[in-house]
Amino acid sequence: MNSAPLKDQARNSTTVWRAADTAHHLHPFTDFRGLAEEGGSRIITKAEGVWLEDSEGEKIIDGMAGLWCVNVGYGRERLAKAAYDQMVELPYYNTFFKTATPASIELSEKLAALTPAGLDKIFYASSGSEANDTIARIVRRFWRLQGQPERTNIISRVNGYHGSTMASASLGGMKPMHQLDGLPLPGFHHVRQPYYYGEGGKMSEEEFGKVAALAIEEKILELGPETVAAFIGEPVQGAGGVIIPPASYWPEVQKICRQYDILLIADEVICGFGRTGQWFGSDTFDIKPDIMPMAKGLTSGYLPLSAIALGERVVDVLWEKGGEFAHGFTYSGHPVACAVALENIAIIEEENLVQKVREDSGPYLQQRLATLADHPLVGEVRGIGLLGAVELASDKQTRGRFSPEGRAGTICRDHCVKQNVVSRAVRDTMVVSPPLIITHAEIDELVSRLGKAIDLAAKDLGVN
Ligand code: PMP
Repeated sequence: MNSAPLKDQARNSTTVWRAADTAHHLHPFTDFRGLAEEGGSRIITKAEGVWLEDSEGEKIIDGMAGLWCVNVGYGRERLAKAAYDQMVELPYYNTFFKTATPASIELSEKLAALTPAGLDKIFYASSGSEANDTIARIVRRFWRLQGQPERTNIISRVNGYHGSTMASASLGGMKPMHQLDGLPLPGFHHVRQPYYYGEGGKMSEEEFGKVAALAIEEKILELGPETVAAFIGEPVQGAGGVIIPPASYWPEVQKICRQYDILLIADEVICGFGRTGQWFGSDTFDIKPDIMPMAKGLTSGYLPLSAIALGERVVDVLWEKGGEFAHGFTYSGHPVACAVALENIAIIEEENLVQKVREDSGPYLQQRLATLADHPLVGEVRGIGLLGAVELASDKQTRGRFSPEGRAGTICRDHCVKQNVVSRAVRDTMVVSPPLIITHAEIDELVSRLGKAIDLAAKDLGVN
């Protein structure tokens, strides 16, 4: 047996890495056996800007910013230095023992200032899933303290994504996740999504937006308004396929939440930190949430960190009537992650990245993606800011879908891999969400490679 640690073996050997990965590493959202049978993983070894490099020296344009998170791009020494300095000064201390750290305090102050008015208090976790799990607990706690313990139901959307723990996967509306082990948990309910291309039929967008929102009211009435605690939605559904709601949707949703006095949660895990051309998706869609989870772009993915911003309505009750809040994580307010988040936000501010997405790179990406709309395989191109989606259709005119669902997307995604461009297939929709620092030339490259992959997929699918 070779007992030498992996790092002492041939470091550049793709074969060695792949074999060890297959032997010992189980990947998330992966068919373990399928991956092994394909020969194992692509090994990503470094990255700079919007470019990844694999162990074979191939350069790949990262159209997904990792998993929608590397907003300031790869290779930022400032973030490495912030982490180093904080680790030397104070690598860890908890926030349980009536203690705090300068980094966790400063970040809380900063997030209270950046988030929409009224959201002034911050609770930390390490992932979007933990943030949403925490929120499920906070919401129930809130209504108990209000003397309405029967308000336990939370409404969310089919095809929404809120994480992968038991509660956050229950909040989400992803069927394959529910099928894994019998979710959702009791008290989690789903209504239709504001997916105009897929479900709008002959309605106008305006009309459809209202109809989709009214599904929430119908669910509230079905469950009994006195049992409903909250509604949660992503301003733009990301992992569901970049579903951009009609302009009429969010105003109607907010009206319904107010009418039945239920809490509104805007999941900003993808939309936050500039993705839609404003600091938050809530700014873009004029949403006034009571609770707002954030993660991903908060640290640009350099370290795991999530934050929940809470508004007065919720905080006042927890504060005045709650006593001890019996919940938290070892890494809540981790000083190194908080220091990196502060530096990351400083970069976004100094480089005017939010404004650039709004006024320059966002419109440019949308304009370039729109050139794919005439392709015979493309049913719709949609996007906002630096989020984009290209929906593949078997019939452009009738919005016909391929069967089985997901096959066309998988074929196209596999061509993207060969073209060295990362675009994710959500069923049969190709999505992009590049780092916010992407240049025009890089957007040209991204769209051109995606276009080539779509051409090749069309050939495979017999569409021309
Ligand atoms: N909410 C949304 C909107 C997300 O997109 C995600 C992750 N894709 C999550 C929550 C869960 O975050 P994490 O993977 O960090 O647990």
